[in-house]
Amino acid sequence: MGDLKVIQTVSDMHRTADEMRASGLRIGLVPTMGYLHGGHLSLIRQARRASDRVVVSIFVNPMQFGPQEDYATYPSDFERDVKLIQGMGGDLVYAPSAKEMYPEGYATYVAVERLTQHLCGPTRPRHFRGVTTVVTKLFAAVKPHVAVLGQKDAQQAVVVRQMVRDLDLDVEIRVAPTVREADGLARSSRNVYLSPGERREAPVLYQALQEARSLVAQGERRAAVVVEAMRQRIAARPHARIDYVCVVNAEDLRPVEALSGAVLFALAVRFGKARLIDNFQVSL
Ligand code: AMP
Repeated sequence: MGDLKVIQTVSDMHRTADEMRASGLRIGLVPTMGYLHGGHLSLIRQARRASDRVVVSIFVNPMQFGPQEDYATYPSDFERDVKLIQGMGGDLVYAPSAKEMYPEGYATYVAVERLTQHLCGPTRPRHFRGVTTVVTKLFAAVKPHVAVLGQKDAQQAVVVRQMVRDLDLDVEIRVAPTVREADGLARSSRNVYLSPGERREAPVLYQALQEARSLVAQGERRAAVVVEAMRQRIAARPHARIDYVCVVNAEDLRPVEALSGAVLFALAVRFGKARLIDNFQVSL
């Protein structure tokens, strides 16, 4: 097991990234908000295959949380995260403080338009602006050649790709498949918010997506019919509160009526304090 370095300041990160680049090393970045689980670990594994040095950032980004959201209570366990990263062969943890990232007088934002109006956009109005701003700052500090994101946050991945294209950022974006619990629930740091009763019902997100998948396999091409089937299945769970159930074009994220080409089935459902998202993509 190699030595794991923890960096907490932007200047230290710049210096270290410059040294790695000067040595000809390919830098891979896995951005996270910590409280790591199997989903994050599979991203780290993928980053290791794609680079010589893996940097895992741990930063709970206040800018991407709404005023009523869970910034103050977001779970964390830094010691445990560091051990997990070390066990996975990560080389470096970049864990700046909120003050380091957004000092007094901070005034700059990066916002991707259009794509952010769909899916999670309406319920989380400033969320993606916070995401694209922090990802830009992480790219600037870590100077990665490649960054690995998760398909679980499908809209985030599409938005970040668009940002990288539009701003000519020299970072390759890779997207790793969603890692699930044995019962299908997508792994998420927020799953700890679920009560035992909510936890039992939460796999319904996956079950609804599986139902959509089988309808499509049987030849159904009307988005409204598939959405209705998913909605009904979710609504049958007493703790579930649907935020959205959508079928969108996987590239521009606009809702589709007829299923063809690359389509993304995406949903967001609240269970008590937890807002869970999940999705799957098919090409028809
Ligand atoms: P987070 O710490 O929740 O902000 O997630 C950090 C990264 O891990 C994002 O790129 C997520 O898409 C990814 N991720 C989170 N959960 C999963 C999962 N269950 N499977 C794959 N990737 C995930």
